[in-house]
Amino acid sequence: MTVDRAGGLRGRCGETEELRLASASLHRGEEPPITGSGGSGTIFVTGCNLGCVFCQNYQISRQGMGRVVTSEEFAAIALRLQEKGAENINIVTGSHAVPAIVRGIDAARSDGLRIPVLWNSSAYESPAMLDLLKTRVDVYLPDLKTLDSGLARRYFNAPDYPRHAAAAILNMIEFQGELCRESSAGSSNSVLKKGVIIRHLALPGHLESTREVIRWFAAHCRGKALLSLMTQYTPVGVKNAPPGPENAPGRQVNQGEYGQILAWLEEFDIEDGFYQELVTGDEWLPDFEKQNPFSSELSVPLWHWTGGFV
Ligand code: SF4
Repeated sequence: MTVDRAGGLRGRCGETEELRLASASLHRGEEPPITGSGGSGTIFVTGCNLGCVFCQNYQISRQGMGRVVTSEEFAAIALRLQEKGAENINIVTGSHAVPAIVRGIDAARSDGLRIPVLWNSSAYESPAMLDLLKTRVDVYLPDLKTLDSGLARRYFNAPDYPRHAAAAILNMIEFQGELCRESSAGSSNSVLKKGVIIRHLALPGHLESTREVIRWFAAHCRGKALLSLMTQYTPVGVKNAPPGPENAPGRQVNQGEYGQILAWLEEFDIEDGFYQELVTGDEWLPDFEKQNPFSSELSVPLWHWTGGFV
């Protein structure tokens, strides 16, 4: 699972110990207590230690779109996001680059970063990496993709994912203790200042995996974390995407599956959390070639790998 990048090796995504970023923006499409009124200050890290065959961010997770930044540049981006009103700094998929990100967070804090730092990851993380993050991260936003090692092997070539992800999430909850929400300035929306939101993306045709995740959440995390059920799975359908170990599901979640998921939320009595509307269409899929990879309703671009600050 771990690779000695500091010793010059490259991880499975091809990244070294250097931190590379693809884009930064004020994002309005996260869960309400993450988006708040100012938007979430998302920073997309290039590379990923998984490599899901269905990755919507495949241009940066598997194709290496991005450029190297120093700790000082990372800090400057974080501070500019704060200046533009971001509720938080939302570091997306940085599990393979923790030491470099930690240096960037420390530089930003010493230069005046005051807003919460969010760790938005796949949860495929070792205890050693989580220890480095412990005193620097305020809110964790881990995925729990599946608890089925067969599916984890099939779709991201990591049969040990369920074991590591479940342990990492329980660690995150232990670090954070109680959820802490506060109203953001000028808004009645409460914003999460401390806590854990566990995300699960339902895979069409594999709902038994979703049921198991909901059951696990109810048994281990109820009252200590929030559950965010995502039904936006969309086949990327891009000709240039590299082939995965097995073709990903070729359709979106259908109405019957969606109804089943909502019924399980009731069955397991999960009330404190979020679920998406059923998604149709693929207009929202990002394109990191563009200065604003998302639609203008969803995101205000601030920094891009091709030219720096926008
Ligand atoms: S963990 Fe997330 S970013 Fe990484 S490959 Fe999977 S979907 Fe993409």
